[in-house]
Amino acid sequence: MKSNLNVNLFFLLLSIQFLNSCKQVHKSDIAITNISLIDVKEGKILENKVLLIQDEKIKGIYPANTKFNAKQVIEGSGKYLIPGLWDMHVHTLDLADHFFPMYIANGITGIRDAGNMNLDSLSRWRQEINNGTRIGPEMLVGSMLDADRGSASYPNTHYISDTTSIDALILQQKLAGADFIKAYHFLSPAQFTEISEACKTHNIPFSGHVPILTPPYETVTHCSNLGQSCIEHGIQIHFAIANKEYVMQNYFDVGNCLQDIIDHIDIEKEKRLYDHFIKNNTWISTTSSIFWGVGQVDQQPNGFHKYWLEYMPNDAIEQYNWYTNPFQDVDSTIRSGKDFDIFRRAALGSAQLMKRMHDYGVNLIAGSDSPNPMIVPGYGLHKEFEILVEGGFSPLEVLQLSTIKAAEFLERSDIGVITKGANADLVILNSNPLLNISNTSSIDGVILKGKYLNRLVLDEMLVDAKELLNKK
Ligand SMILES: [Zn+2]
Repeated sequence: MKSNLNVNLFFLLLSIQFLNSCKQVHKSDIAITNISLIDVKEGKILENKVLLIQDEKIKGIYPANTKFNAKQVIEGSGKYLIPGLWDMHVHTLDLADHFFPMYIANGITGIRDAGNMNLDSLSRWRQEINNGTRIGPEMLVGSMLDADRGSASYPNTHYISDTTSIDALILQQKLAGADFIKAYHFLSPAQFTEISEACKTHNIPFSGHVPILTPPYETVTHCSNLGQSCIEHGIQIHFAIANKEYVMQNYFDVGNCLQDIIDHIDIEKEKRLYDHFIKNNTWISTTSSIFWGVGQVDQQPNGFHKYWLEYMPNDAIEQYNWYTNPFQDVDSTIRSGKDFDIFRRAALGSAQLMKRMHDYGVNLIAGSDSPNPMIVPGYGLHKEFEILVEGGFSPLEVLQLSTIKAAEFLERSDIGVITKGANADLVILNSNPLLNISNTSSIDGVILKGKYLNRLVLDEMLVDAKELLNKK
């Protein structure tokens, strides 16, 4: 009898506690109501939720009837919420004033900058973002090293000659604020080895292309074994898995051969190479849109990008040769206008090869490589998404590359997810991105570090960025 009483008392207390929790009023800075959350891990949609944000973090996800007391309420009926996107391969150069609004207005709350940024500017921008005087994404920034071939081409790149102390240079770059070292493809395999050793000594990750003038299979394997964290663009990987040899003197040769490689894959070799990547935890950044972009150069000025060109500063257009025929200085009997078409198709080939790696279990992150030709910062990542879907990825897989896979690569649990305690970096969409990947562009608002930027604010930011061009 006594024990029954205890049990009843227990349930009574439990019920009271339950009722109290229903009555509890949750305080928060922001409440997003009636929203459909996209669970990017499982690909599920959690409908009709209340999401609360407090102190730049997600406070919790609650049922629709939850009582809350929020300073700001965002009505989310009919809208979809995804985590803030990370573009894992961009070049911001010294153009934060122009590019930051374009990243943010496109839902990109984090970038991995793959070199050419002025590190002095970086520390200033980070300060300004922290003290609230500048709106910008979270940044992970690489310092670019390349071989000294007599002519410098990219800004803020460190050209290595026989007399350069790679060790001292890498330490200096780390102290200057670089988050990782990016090695470019004219460096030799021996220089890659030296770079990887210096990076280990100074505890800074290294990533990059792979040496371009050496046999692809051995070179790619070498870089993976060195502990290179990411092979950018899949350069050389595609050549490494082919059962025939290709002439490979510069980056444009990649585009010319991609469709042919797909018909000449050595399955055993491919498997061996991907096993290396998995064993060594070598990641690949996708950037298939670079090929598409180069393939658009002869479409000027009537392509889709016409509108966005209004936002592109000349510095970037000149630096990345938007208007220069990339095939001009090559023997015209070898390359001609038809190459533009080949490049447009090469984008699809690259995406298909990325999908093969992804299906095998190789880790990928999505990057746009803006501002390469026609790859407009911010917008470029959405183009990359579309190309990857054309290449066989599902919309969910593509979303994952810019959210949970980016977080996994960066070893972070506070980004890329909509869960309690994660950073309040979120994108509100008007349409469901799981049905059509182009819907990632249907951006109604962005929440950046717990600050709500509605469509009007985002549009104003873009107008300001555009007006900057006229001021110069
Ligand atoms: Zn790049």
